[in-house]
Amino acid sequence: VNSKHTPYAGHLAIIGLGPGSRDLVVPRAIQMLVECDLVVGYRLYIEQIRDLVEGKEIHVSELTHEVERATLAVLHARAGRRVCVVSSGDAGIYGMAGLVLDILSQVQEETFGSPSATSAEKRPEPLVEIVPGISALNAVAALLGAPLMHDFAVISLSDLLTPWQTIAHRLSAAAAADFVVVLYNPTSRKRHWQLGEAQRLLLESRPATTPVGLVRNAYREGQQVWFTTLDHLLDDDVDMFTTIVIGNSCTRVQQGRMITPRGYERHVSQVHEVREGTKHDSV
Ligand code: SAH
Repeated sequence: VNSKHTPYAGHLAIIGLGPGSRDLVVPRAIQMLVECDLVVGYRLYIEQIRDLVEGKEIHVSELTHEVERATLAVLHARAGRRVCVVSSGDAGIYGMAGLVLDILSQVQEETFGSPSATSAEKRPEPLVEIVPGISALNAVAALLGAPLMHDFAVISLSDLLTPWQTIAHRLSAAAAADFVVVLYNPTSRKRHWQLGEAQRLLLESRPATTPVGLVRNAYREGQQVWFTTLDHLLDDDVDMFTTIVIGNSCTRVQQGRMITPRGYERHVSQVHEVREGTKHDSV
């Protein structure tokens, strides 16, 4: 099939809006928003881009209505419209991308498998594009310093869709393997004990003094950046707008910045040489 000549039924863009501020939304996502007919998303994220989608059809929904939102987007795109589904951060990281693709393939299978489907229903499928965004981990790492310079594991503490047993297993494995650990969804109004349990599991293979960086509302109003240690993780108020970075055995906090060294200080002597003028190759 020559894709240039394939008539698509519609366009389905799944975009991430970054952590919050407009200058951290990638230009391609803005272009998709400007070009689309219809925008689907959670109320808070729509508010963030309201000025860009003035006059368009907008389907706002509440946080827990993801399936409804994704299905609506798929059906409209298959009906020939240009649809944007918006997520915060990156749509493919605990965002809407997986669900939308899942529902799209389910609808496609049902249509093509059904002998009674009309030819209109069997029209060419929408062009799907997933636009990458700046995830909380990129935003948070930048505000903390350089904590993700070495291998890291990202774990969501939300056990709404994942059994706690699986999450606990991953926490223990990541801690034992000395990964830097990034925690998404640390708590919510309905989930209180998970962070304490995560702390307990991490302390089984990490020292109490392990540095921890926290960021609430990165690049949004009310941004807060602070540091603590693993044993004091529960001393501060951590809410659902916070992302937590737990250091590995080499991570340190120095002059207000969290740093996980890439190697083992190999460069320290070179810095001295350059400063003292004893190193003369191109710098
Ligand atoms: N798709 C999003 C993540 C959604 S899960 C992304 O890629 O960033 C929601 C969790 O993301 C929150 O509980 C919080 O841990 C984190 N998060 C999202 N935006 C954030 C921000 N601006 N500052 C700090 N944490 C954030």
